[in-house]
Amino acid sequence: MSEQVLLYDTTLRDGMQGEGMSLSVEEKVRVAHALDSLGVHLIEAGFPSSNPKEEALFGMLADESFEHAEVAAFGMTRRRGVRAEEDDALRLLASSFAPVCTLVGKTWALHLEKVTKVDAGENLAMIEESVAFLRTRGKRVIYDAEHFFDGFRQDADYALRCLRAAVAGGAENVTLCDTNGSSLPAQVAEATARVVAELGHAVAVGIHTHDDAGCGVANSIVAVERGARLVQGTMNGYGERCGNANLVSILPALQLKLGYECVTADQLARLTETSHLVDEICNVAPNPNQPYVGKNAFAHKGGMHVAGIVRDARTFEHMDPAEVGNDRDLLISELSGKGTVQARAEQRGVQLDEEAAARVVERVKQLEHRGFQFEAADGSFDLLIRKETGDYEPLFRLEAWRAIVEKREDGRVMTEATIKIWVEGERYIRTAEGNGPVNALDRALRSAIGETYPHLRDIELVNFKVRILDETKGTGAITRVLLDASDGTDTWGSIGVSENIIEASWEALVDSLEAGMLPRRAEHSHRPATAAGS
Ligand SMILES: [Zn+2]
Repeated sequence: MSEQVLLYDTTLRDGMQGEGMSLSVEEKVRVAHALDSLGVHLIEAGFPSSNPKEEALFGMLADESFEHAEVAAFGMTRRRGVRAEEDDALRLLASSFAPVCTLVGKTWALHLEKVTKVDAGENLAMIEESVAFLRTRGKRVIYDAEHFFDGFRQDADYALRCLRAAVAGGAENVTLCDTNGSSLPAQVAEATARVVAELGHAVAVGIHTHDDAGCGVANSIVAVERGARLVQGTMNGYGERCGNANLVSILPALQLKLGYECVTADQLARLTETSHLVDEICNVAPNPNQPYVGKNAFAHKGGMHVAGIVRDARTFEHMDPAEVGNDRDLLISELSGKGTVQARAEQRGVQLDEEAAARVVERVKQLEHRGFQFEAADGSFDLLIRKETGDYEPLFRLEAWRAIVEKREDGRVMTEATIKIWVEGERYIRTAEGNGPVNALDRALRSAIGETYPHLRDIELVNFKVRILDETKGTGAITRVLLDASDGTDTWGSIGVSENIIEASWEALVDSLEAGMLPRRAEHSHRPATAAGS
């Protein structure tokens, strides 16, 4: 049997340090579910209650159920001169619902001297007592040894004593951190081998690297080869400066090239989909050249390659793209297979026969060609399936809409939208003002159909993301709008694509309301039958 390596994802904490990264609480929960379905073992959510947003996140996560991922809360060793049980931050960690706590502490004498001004002995006590306190509160503890490799190079004995202190406190894992990203693979290999030799009988060892020297992935891999059995990293390598170690590259390397067991084959086949979904949620354009999951990762150009691939794919490909859910086809998508489409439809309670599934696949390919991406637009995808099965009824018929944006002399910007639509044979004309054209259209539309569909009042647009595609074409650029909506229970995404940003937003808006009405309308359409029988 192959040995297991645990995946520890820190996208929601370390990944959020990256430039321009910011996720709402709902988006973080969506990322957590995506990680869970990929088979990630531990999801580091952040510091419990360090601010109201984190408090809300932990509150929400406590109520979520995951297939097998566990949530880890993150915190620091106690402050100097305070008993662990009296340290407010540690007490908060202890009271969080998370079964696992990850504690970070100092390992490097340089940091103790220059930054924290804590003496070496006190630092060891801080580590041991903090870990021990969380253990008495029933937590499993991972100890993150900050700047471990720098510390090891300066004073290996002290760096090891810090780890021993964590072990003495009861940590189940000590994770060696290359916090500054300064190390090269041979250095990581040597230090990790030493830790495993000296402490491996008493504790599991983990690795946490950064990509400052372009070695984040390589450093994680060599650490595993030297005995580390937990890898911390982020999706797509998000993180401050040059990023964290990229779990999307580490996972297939460990599993397919080195034979470690991390996730199941089915979960691994979701890698491309998950990587793109998380990109979409974070509003990051997927890197077409990203190893394993990029659009170009297995795209071939030029006669000789293509001929070679046709004869035997191994001649020009380092692995089978299907194993990570990627495709040789330039139009890659999680939806590109009939089986996947059928499975998805079934999840949504729609039966799709082979023929309808093939039509959905075709339609998705056409739309992707125009710039659609359904990974983060599950609401629009639901509608698309229903359109192919004839199981779709629009909420209304559009006659026209118009949006006016006017800037006045005093600097104020006024927006007004008018819509003309038909609902159940009746014509509605409504005008509304808003803080922008999309908001004004949304209000006008809701005022027109809100009476017919009262559930619309519960639906809130929680997120609006715009991306310009094909920037190189200048005026020919198209705009993709992704909207997230929520009714307080469910959250779903919708998409619109157009050369005109307001039209793209309108498409996404209509999809988001129609998708939000799907379950209610299903109930609604069943009701008359029941009523007739009673
Ligand atoms: Zn880090």
